Amino acid sequence: MATLQQVIARAVSRPTFNAIRGAAASRNYSSAATAANGFQFELSETQKEYQELARKFTRDEIIPVAAELDRTGEYPWDILKKAWGLGLLNNHIPADIGGLEMGVFDGCLIAEEFAYGCTGVKTAIEASGLGQTPVLVAGNKEQQKKYLGRLLEEPLVAAYGVTEPGAGSDVNGIKTRAEKKGDEYVINGQKMWITNGGVANWYFVLARTNPDPKCPASKAFTGFIVDRDTPGLTPGRKEKNMGQKCSDTRGITFEDVRVPKENVLMGEGAGFKIAMLTFDKTRPPVAAGATGLAQRCLDEAAKYSLERKAFGTQIVNHQAVAFMLADMAIGIETSRLAWMRAAWEADLGTSKRVPYYASIAKALAADVANKCATDAVQIFGGNGFNTEYPVEKLMRDAKIFQIYEGTAQIQRLIISRNLMASYAS
Ligand SMILES: Cc1cc2nc3c(=O)[nH]c(=O)nc-3n(C[C@H](O)[C@H](O)[C@H](O)COP(=O)(O)OP(=O)(O)OC[C@H]3O[C@@H](n4cnc5c(N)ncnc54)[C@H](O)[C@@H]3O)c2cc1C
Repeated sequence: MATLQQVIARAVSRPTFNAIRGAAASRNYSSAATAANGFQFELSETQKEYQELARKFTRDEIIPVAAELDRTGEYPWDILKKAWGLGLLNNHIPADIGGLEMGVFDGCLIAEEFAYGCTGVKTAIEASGLGQTPVLVAGNKEQQKKYLGRLLEEPLVAAYGVTEPGAGSDVNGIKTRAEKKGDEYVINGQKMWITNGGVANWYFVLARTNPDPKCPASKAFTGFIVDRDTPGLTPGRKEKNMGQKCSDTRGITFEDVRVPKENVLMGEGAGFKIAMLTFDKTRPPVAAGATGLAQRCLDEAAKYSLERKAFGTQIVNHQAVAFMLADMAIGIETSRLAWMRAAWEADLGTSKRVPYYASIAKALAADVANKCATDAVQIFGGNGFNTEYPVEKLMRDAKIFQIYEGTAQIQRLIISRNLMASYAS
C-alpha cells in the first residue's frame, strides 16, 4: 500500500485524481467480496487510502483548532481550503467535469473522519455537499458544468435552502414563491436555518410555483440554483447555536430575486421530488458524522477512565463505568454498520428501500451520538461539565444530529411508513 505522503502527493495532482478514480470505479464495498459466503467487511485499498488521508488531515488540521473554532464561532475557511487542495471536498462531482465521482459510501468514510475531529467543521463541509446533491441528481450537463465545475476551480461552498421559519419537517408547508415572468422566475420569501447561508457561492432553493393549495407537493414546488450575488437575496445574521458553532447557519430573505429559467432543476414541479431524493444520498453521511462524534466520545472517555482514580483504583475498574464504555462501543459499531448499509444501498440505487435504510442509519447514529456524548460527560464527572475538557463540546455538538436533515421523529415516520407499505402489499 502507498505511504500517506504518496497518497497526498498523488491527491494534489489532477492526473492522480483520475488514477484514484479509476481504482475507485473498480472497487465496491460488497460486490468485490472475496469471502466464501459473499459477505465481507473489508474496505478496498483505495478506500483505506481515502480514509487514512482524511484521518491524517483530521489529526493535523482539525483537532488542533476545534476548541478555538468552537470558542470564536469563526467559519473554518482555512481548513476548507486545505481540504479542497487535497481533493477531500466535492468528491461526488462527475468525472466528465473533472471530479472524482466518488460514491456515497466513500464520501461517508471521509465524513466520519472529519466528524471525529469537529462536527462543526464536518457540517460546514457536508452542507456544501447537501447543496450540490440536487444538482448531481437532477442537474443537466450545462448546470453541472457551471455550478459544480466552479467548486472544483476555486474553494467555494454551496448551500441547501428548503427550511423556512414556518415549515421544516412539513416541507409541503413552505411559502416561498417563484413566479414565471418571461424567461425568468421571480422568487419572494424567507428561508431559515440554512447552513453555509452566509458563505455559499450559490444555493439550491425550493420554492412554490403552483399557488393552488390543493396542488399535491409532488407538483407544486420547483428547485432552483440561485447565485449568491443575485440582487434581492440577503442572508441574515449568523445564528447563535448550542453547538457546531463554527458552522454558519442563517436565514435568507428573497425579495424579487430574478433567476433565469436555465437554473430550474429538472423542470417546473419537480422540486419536491429532488429535495427528497437528495436525502437518500445525504442522510448516510449525516449518520457517518454522528458515528464519528460517538467514536470520539468513546476514545476520550476510555482514556480518561484509565487515568482517573476513585476509591483507590482507576474508574474503569468500576463495572458501572466499564459498562458505559461497552454500551458506547455497541452503539458505535451498529451505527457504523447502519450507515454502511444505507450508503451501499444509495450507491446501488436499485432498492425502493433506499430512504428506509437512510432513515434507520440517521435515526440510530444520531441517538447513539447523543447517548455516547451524555455518557462521556458522565465518565468525566465534574470535569465533563467544564470547557477545559473536550466532552462538553461533544455533547453540545451531538444534539443537532437528531434535528437537521429530518428530525428523529420524521426518520421514524419514514421507517414506519415503509414498513406499513411492505406489510400492506
Ligand atoms: C443548525 C441547523 C442547521 C440546519 N441546516 C439546514 C440547511 O442547511 N438547509 C435546510 O433547508 N434546513 C436546515 N435546517 C433545518 C432543519 O432541517 C429543521 O430545523 C428540521 O427539519 C426541523 O424542522 P423545524 O425546525 O421546522 O421543526 P418542526 O418541523 O416545527 O418540528 C418541531 C417538532 O415537532 C416534531 N414533528 C413535526 N412533525 C411531526 C410529525 N409529523 N410526527 C412527529 N413529530 C413531528 C419534530 O420532530 C420536532 O420535534 C437546519 C437546522 C438547524 C438547527
